[in-house]
Amino acid sequence: MSKFELPKLPYSYDALEPSIDKMTMEIHHTKHHQAYVNNLNNAIAGTEMEGKSLEEIMANVSKYPAAVRNNGGGHFNHSLFWTVMKHGGSSPSGAVLDAINSAFNSFDEFKEKFNSAAMTRFGSGWAWLVVSGGKLVVTSTPNQDNPVMDIADVKGTPILGVDVWEHAYYLKYQNRRNEYLGSWWDVVNWDEVARRFAEAK
Ligand code: MN
Repeated sequence: MSKFELPKLPYSYDALEPSIDKMTMEIHHTKHHQAYVNNLNNAIAGTEMEGKSLEEIMANVSKYPAAVRNNGGGHFNHSLFWTVMKHGGSSPSGAVLDAINSAFNSFDEFKEKFNSAAMTRFGSGWAWLVVSGGKLVVTSTPNQDNPVMDIADVKGTPILGVDVWEHAYYLKYQNRRNEYLGSWWDVVNWDEVARRFAEAK
């Protein structure tokens, strides 16, 4: 049977410096994400989930064991996360910027709302920009949950997400999640967000 695999990073481990340091990236990708992939493969081995797409598993995750929710979510979330960042970042433009301005009044108000979702997520989790029912919304999820899961409060297609687990920032920022977030915006890959937005509509 085919197995889920750790995707290669589309850049080097030091590409997101100084926003995210090389050691954090390397451990995050080769240890944390790899563990989600391995544990997901173990959890689905010999079950009806084997051979299903990750999206299909997420959409029915309420029927499956917690290990599938946690590790399948971990694999999905990190696979998205790596792609929505790049060396030097980029600026939002075009249709996705228009949609952000129309949904949140301005890009600054969107950022404020997104940062607030990320800061108020207690413990470990994610903040998301999601296309939900044709509208852009900001939401957050605990642990490795995400908006494509059938158990999510706000369901939709995530086009941007930030990991606020301590493992994503603790080596460089310790407890200062706000500093990590402030610096993270500098490496957001808006071309990829725009691509995901166009596909989600
Ligand atoms: Mn993580």
